[in-house]
Amino acid sequence: MSAVNNLFVLYTGGTIGMLQTAQGLAPAGGFETRMREHLASAGKPAPQFVFQEMLPLLDSANMTQAQWLAMRDEIVAAVVEGGHDAVLLLHGTDTLAYSAAALSFLLLGLDVPVVLTGAMLPAGCDGSDAWPNLCGALAALQSGVEPGVHLYFNGGLMHGARVSKLRSDAFDAFTVLPRQRSGERADALPALLGFNTRRVPVNLAVLPLFPGLQAGHVQALLDSGVQGLLLECYGSGTGPSDNAELLAVLKAAHQRGVVLAAISQCPAGHVEFGVYAAGSQLAASGLVSAGGMTREAALAKLFALIGAGLAPADVERWFALDLCGERAE
Ligand code: ASP
Repeated sequence: MSAVNNLFVLYTGGTIGMLQTAQGLAPAGGFETRMREHLASAGKPAPQFVFQEMLPLLDSANMTQAQWLAMRDEIVAAVVEGGHDAVLLLHGTDTLAYSAAALSFLLLGLDVPVVLTGAMLPAGCDGSDAWPNLCGALAALQSGVEPGVHLYFNGGLMHGARVSKLRSDAFDAFTVLPRQRSGERADALPALLGFNTRRVPVNLAVLPLFPGLQAGHVQALLDSGVQGLLLECYGSGTGPSDNAELLAVLKAAHQRGVVLAAISQCPAGHVEFGVYAAGSQLAASGLVSAGGMTREAALAKLFALIGAGLAPADVERWFALDLCGERAE
């Protein structure tokens, strides 16, 4: 880990640079000037940086897979063609954990640190966390951060593929959930999973199981052309296993090549299908376990694998292995 000499700052929008409008807070340009003025007036040592806006600036509630791919493209171009040795990504907090997870998989093998940050209150507001988060991220980069994707927030550096936003009303909005980490680490990643691989958008859906879920609900979702379905199961990976119709719908989808993955809906849970017969029966319908992965990481990983054009059986194989610390220590 070496200190940063040539930083690339990519600003995508978010509260950190928002200004008040008649409709409420909205993304605003001109953040580079504000950032440079703040760093100069605060006398903070900062690495030399190039600043770029990713247009249109967004409230991160509007992020889609297309923006994940656009961020990946900007970052890869800045590092590979522009020679930058680190990246700071400014992003709204609402979907920051999803983007951090997506970039963790889309940038596999890129040998520079990528640090995301944002803020709960806009820069310039009384008591805002914007400058502390931004300056803290810069300081972390200057003292050396490992290659890979990270989130710097509220004084801490966190793993990009493990964070979740758990609070909308406090500065400690992000947490690494206490989920069991286990699983085999993929020893060599094929080139197809590396940052050079182009991805195409994928039709993905996430569905929490709930008492009363009907086979028809799931069928309707699958009929929309879903290529990968992430089921948020109960506890250790159970579901309504007495519902033969529901299991048949899942099984038929799996046989058609839809990838079915399971996470636990318990914040501190992980999937272990064999603990209950209700879990084993669900697994027999073709579900692959996400272990202790978060929803954000599991969704992003499905996107990275299916979007790379892998066959369903290969998606399932790589999904079950740890690629960057998302499911194992
Ligand atoms: N809605 C904002 C966003 O995600 C919230 C924030 O940045 O804190 O862009």
